[in-house]
Amino acid sequence: LATRLKKTNADVVKKLMLLGVMANANQVVDFDTAALVCEEFKVKYEREIVVTIEERLIDDSDDADENLEPRSPVVVVMGHVDHGKTSLLDAIRDAHVTATEAGGITQHIGAYKVNKNGRDITFLDTPGHAAFTAMRARGANITDIAILVVAADDGIMPQTVEAINHAKAAGVSIIVAINKMDKPEANPERVKQALTEHGLVPEEWGGDVICVPVSALKHEGIEELLEMVLLTADMLDLKANPNRAAKGTVVEAKLDKGRGPVATLLVQNGTLHAGDVIIAGTVVGRVRAMTDDKGRKITDAPPSTPVEIIGLSDVPAAGDIFHAVADEKMARELAEQRRQEEKEKQFKSTQKVSLDDLFSQI
Ligand code: GDP
Ligand code: MG
Repeated sequence: LATRLKKTNADVVKKLMLLGVMANANQVVDFDTAALVCEEFKVKYEREIVVTIEERLIDDSDDADENLEPRSPVVVVMGHVDHGKTSLLDAIRDAHVTATEAGGITQHIGAYKVNKNGRDITFLDTPGHAAFTAMRARGANITDIAILVVAADDGIMPQTVEAINHAKAAGVSIIVAINKMDKPEANPERVKQALTEHGLVPEEWGGDVICVPVSALKHEGIEELLEMVLLTADMLDLKANPNRAAKGTVVEAKLDKGRGPVATLLVQNGTLHAGDVIIAGTVVGRVRAMTDDKGRKITDAPPSTPVEIIGLSDVPAAGDIFHAVADEKMARELAEQRRQEEKEKQFKSTQKVSLDDLFSQI
């Protein structure tokens, strides 16, 4: 401040003292204090607001209540290996994707939508916990409800506990599907007892955790489970603004030989349109074509819709957050900036490692 005012540090410190601010020469003062000092010296000043490319490009402001509309829930299935996650996802899909839809062919795009009682539910079909963990590590919270699959004959296992902890940390609601009820060894009461030891108290025992007995193999209990998903969604009062630029998360992405980079996106707010320019992490591109989970070409994807898109310049990472933006050139600038930041971060972490290595050798 002294330099900009062409005064000595002592002059400025003295003025500050007169204003009742006891400061030393290296202290940071806020804008209003600095303004008072300028006035004391009869120097003109103005507030300079620094706007980053990110802020200019991406509007991440909260939506006003009157712009919010109900959206369907996004559900993930978690649980110990072999407890029936894949079987359950298949059973739900089989029961709700009718043969008339796109010739009965379902695309495996990493997520799918089913309709129950006239309402949509979006299921993430990503392989295991890895993707979920990767997404959370990037700060992406994409699910509203976690279905915790516990095999009734096996009970709570290490990955069940892991799943409970992930779901709790992410703040998502948990519904327990007690699976393999068709097995003679099935013991749902033992499962419920073990759940309480992990802080999940079943409703019928006075808690708030819904437990639904199912058999993914025999397709039993699936409809009850979906009803409980809708009931939980009602309590969560899920909303989004479909009339803004789209924002969401990359669920899966790969390089396809013929089509180039292909990504499954989950739109979480706004509506994604064919032709939109998007930035996903360090990747930019125009949505050249968009298909839904039934393989149908679509032009608009409202909140809670999973879509597969082509047109990106590169393959983004699962868990990357994407935004639809108005200015492609600025988006490329931002992507470049993010790449630089990533490089710096990597450089710093390798430096840190080598320092640690150095110390460990001493
Ligand atoms: P994941 O590892 O959690 O995805 O489990 P899978 O869905 O692959 O199922 C593991 C094994 O359990 C498979 O052999 C399934 O056929 C079997 N399984 C899944 N659900 C049921 C069920 O409800 N009843 C019975 N008896 N077996 C099941
Ligand atoms: Mg599986």
